Amino acid sequence: MQTNLADFVKKNQNSTEAEAILRSCVHCGFCLATCPTYQLLGDELDSPRGRIYLMKQVLEGHTVTQKTQLHLDRCLACRACETTCPSGVRYSHLLDISRGIVEEKVARSNYNELKRFVIRKFLTSRYVFKFSVKVAQLLRAFMPAKIKSSIPPMNSSAADWHNTPHKRRMLVLDGCVQPTLAPNINAATARVLDKLGISLINVAEAGCCGALAYHLNAQQQGLDAMRHNIDVWWPLIESRQIEAIVISASGCGVTVKEYGHFLQYDTAYAEKAKIVAALAKDISEVIVAELEDLTVLLKKASLNRPNKLAFHSPCTLQHGMKIRGVVEKILNSVGITLCQVDNPHLCCGSAGTYSILQPTLSQQLLKDKVIALTANEPAQIVTANIGCLMHIQRGTSLPVKHWIELLDTLLHPSPLSP
Ligand code: SF4
Ligand code: SF4
Repeated sequence: MQTNLADFVKKNQNSTEAEAILRSCVHCGFCLATCPTYQLLGDELDSPRGRIYLMKQVLEGHTVTQKTQLHLDRCLACRACETTCPSGVRYSHLLDISRGIVEEKVARSNYNELKRFVIRKFLTSRYVFKFSVKVAQLLRAFMPAKIKSSIPPMNSSAADWHNTPHKRRMLVLDGCVQPTLAPNINAATARVLDKLGISLINVAEAGCCGALAYHLNAQQQGLDAMRHNIDVWWPLIESRQIEAIVISASGCGVTVKEYGHFLQYDTAYAEKAKIVAALAKDISEVIVAELEDLTVLLKKASLNRPNKLAFHSPCTLQHGMKIRGVVEKILNSVGITLCQVDNPHLCCGSAGTYSILQPTLSQQLLKDKVIALTANEPAQIVTANIGCLMHIQRGTSLPVKHWIELLDTLLHPSPLSP
C-alpha cells in the first residue's frame, strides 16, 4: 500500500512502525471472513481492511471525524484478523497508534468522556473496586436476576495459596479485578504449581497490567501502570530469584508479553521491559511444560473426571499470544473430554471494557458464543481469562470456570465432592 504520512505523524516516535504496517497490507480481504464486527454489521468500514483504510487517512492527515472514531471504537481489538492475515499485518499496533491520534483530534461528548474516566478509575483502583463488589455481594440476594448474574457470590474458599517454599519460584500477576471477582483463580494456580514443586510469589504492590487504561486511550496512564509493575518486580528479577512471571488472565498476559513493545521508546525502561516480557508466561505454557509430572500426580489421585466440557479460548490467548491447542492438550492429557465448539476463533464480546461501551454488539456476540459453547451439551464451560469468564457467565446457567480451577479440584478434591 502506498503511503504519505502527514508531517505531524512523522514527528511521532512510532511513525516508522505505522508506515511499515500500512505498507504490509495488500488489501486481499482474507481478514473479512473472520472479523466478528464485519460478520455482524456487514459494513466494510467495520472490517479490518476498512479500518486500515480509515487509519491510513488519519495518519496521512485527512480530516478525522466522529464516523472514523465510531468505526475504530467498534473494533474489539480481538486480533482475529492478525491470525487470518497472510501478510502478517500487525493490525493491533496500528490500531493503538491511530486511536491515540483520533482521541486527540475528535472530542467525545462530556457524557462519554465521563463514562470512560469512571470505568478507568473504578476498575483500576483495586480498593474502591473491591469495596464496591463486597457491598454488591452483600445485597446480591435482593437484586434482579440480570444484575445478579454480573456479581459473583462471595467466595470464602479461595484464600489458601499453599505457599510451601520450593527451590523453583515464579512471580504471579494478581491484576486489578481478578483478585476481587475470582480470587480462587490465582489461589488454584498456586496450589497446582505447589504440587509441581514450584512456589508462586505475589508482590502485592503490583497492580493492573496497564491494558485497561491503555486501550481506553489513556495511553500514558497505561504505560505508568506497566512501569510500576516493572519497578516492583525488578528486585526479584535482578537477583534471579524467579524463573518466570505467571499470568492466569490471558488479557493481562498478552499485555505483559508486549511490555517491550509498549515501552520501546522509554530509555529508562526499554531494556527492563524486554526482560519482563521474556519472563511472562501464560499459566498454560507453564503447565504444559510439566505435563508428565502432572499426569503422574493425577494417576495417583485416580479420580472421576468431570463429564464433557466446553473450552472457550479467549482472543487474547489464541490471537494475541498465539497459544492455540495448549489448554486443550492439557485437559485431554488429564482425561477430560472436550466438546466440539463451532467458530472457536470468534470473540465472546467481552473484550476488556467493550461489553460496557458497545453493549449491543457485545450482547449479540455473547448470544452466538453461548449457543456455540452449549450446542453439544457440556456439563460446564472453562476458559482462560477473567473478562470472558464473567461475560459468558452472564449468558448461561452452566458454571463457567478458569480451567486451572478444574485442574486444582482434580488434584485437591474436596472431602464434600461426590
Ligand atoms: S489485513 Fe491482511 S488479510 Fe486483511 S486485507 Fe490487509 S493483507 Fe489482506
Ligand atoms: S481486531 Fe477483531 S474486530 Fe477489530 S478488525 Fe480485527 S478481527 Fe475485526
